[in-house]
Amino acid sequence: MLTRRSALALSFAALVGAAQAQPQKIPVVASFSIIGDLVRQVGGDRITVATIVGPDGDAHVYQPSPADGRHIAQARLIFVNGLGFEGWLDRLMRAAKSKGEVFTLGNGIAARKGEEGQDPHAWQDVANAKIYVEAIRETLTAADPEGAPAYKANADAYLAKLDALDTEIQQAIAAVPKERRRVVSTHDAFGYFAGRYGVEFIAPQGVSTEAEVSARDVAKIIDAVRTHKVAAVFIENIADPRLAKRIASETGARMGGVLYSDALSDAKSDGATYIDMMRHNVKELAKALAP
Ligand SMILES: [Zn+2]
Repeated sequence: MLTRRSALALSFAALVGAAQAQPQKIPVVASFSIIGDLVRQVGGDRITVATIVGPDGDAHVYQPSPADGRHIAQARLIFVNGLGFEGWLDRLMRAAKSKGEVFTLGNGIAARKGEEGQDPHAWQDVANAKIYVEAIRETLTAADPEGAPAYKANADAYLAKLDALDTEIQQAIAAVPKERRRVVSTHDAFGYFAGRYGVEFIAPQGVSTEAEVSARDVAKIIDAVRTHKVAAVFIENIADPRLAKRIASETGARMGGVLYSDALSDAKSDGATYIDMMRHNVKELAKALAP
């Protein structure tokens, strides 16, 4: 017969045993919100994800915080975009003495060349997002072979949703007359979107938001808006809206809504996941470009 004390000891042992049977979640860092979402979709509950540049944040000009250093120091895997997007990363890794492995998802795609070098905004083409997801699945599987079936199931389900999203965007843009498919954004973040879906974007600022916009750049855009009958001028969630508003007011072009360029929205808005963000963008474009 068990005494009360040994019964307690047994139940404590059972509790400890149960805790040990739970696999340790893999600590993962994502450099910015969009990759954070993709990694969560594939990793599910086998991983924890800390995201460095959060919703509505601009990764081009980000200043890491001490909390970022702590996350990087604890991470086993670190997923980044590369292609010149996270200029602050190497310093952060050194400062945090990180032993985590870095995976540069942008290395897997055919990078577009901008005027100032490689264009990092690959996620704006859903086909590239699929390449990112496949790379994330492979990386997580290599780090945690026991999780292979879960990572495969998660990735398969999500890739099917991305296929549907890609078709949805193509159909929405196909419904816009060709001569209307020309818009202004603040910085050159939509080159990959333009390449896949056939909307022309012009922007006063280049592929990074680091460079100052000169009066000459703005004058050039205003000229282009007038000459090419640009249908709408868009604001971006990571950029100051004043420049876009000025271009719209000086040219009489229609003011479009907000496009999610380099970051997801916060949870209260309608772009809090990658799929929602792309849906929001195409909805705003279709609305502004309708004749
Ligand atoms: Zn950007």
